[in-house]
Amino acid sequence: MIGDVTVISGPSAVGKGTLVQALLAVHPEVWLSVSVTTRSPRPGEIDGLHYHFISNAEFDELIATDGLLEWALVHGTDRYGTPAAPALAAVEQGKKVILEIEIQGARQVKKHLPNCRMVFIAPPSPQTLQERLRHRGTETEEQMARRLRTAADELAAVSEFDHVIVNDDLGTATAELVELLGL
Ligand code: 5GP
Repeated sequence: MIGDVTVISGPSAVGKGTLVQALLAVHPEVWLSVSVTTRSPRPGEIDGLHYHFISNAEFDELIATDGLLEWALVHGTDRYGTPAAPALAAVEQGKKVILEIEIQGARQVKKHLPNCRMVFIAPPSPQTLQERLRHRGTETEEQMARRLRTAADELAAVSEFDHVIVNDDLGTATAELVELLGL
């Protein structure tokens, strides 16, 4: 594959989204893929900007027509996927493409695009991650327990990645990402 694709992945609540937004603030020329999801919008989320919020039937249709570069069922409830056409078009236009996705999806992208840059965002410690998950406060105990189990599995996936950025200080982590991307 020619082109410049970076997969930014890591455990839930590690701060991937915040880091990517910090990158875009200093490098707006970077092209960030907008995912499709079957989950409902949270307050403040805008359709087409944060996600394309779609129905289960629409998601099925995208899978059936090979419209997704990757997709995953996250936390056993909602599906998320990367629309293939816009991402591949951005690659062809020579843009630096970023996919901010969870680990099952990252593995699929690596299979399709073996030359992509695989970046794992790690918490300073497993404890920090647990605290961040708990402080989100939006989940029930059962959802929390599920998220903590998933987080442990996700942390173990670090060895599958080419690069690791520890998200302790946002400024430092952003600077590391800028350098990795050659910006
Ligand atoms: P949230 O619901 O908190 O926005 O996202 C839940 C998880 O789904 C996060 O870890 C996020 O990185 C991941 N995610 C967002 N978009 C995609 C996507 O297109 N594909 C995959 N595999 N994961 C995604």
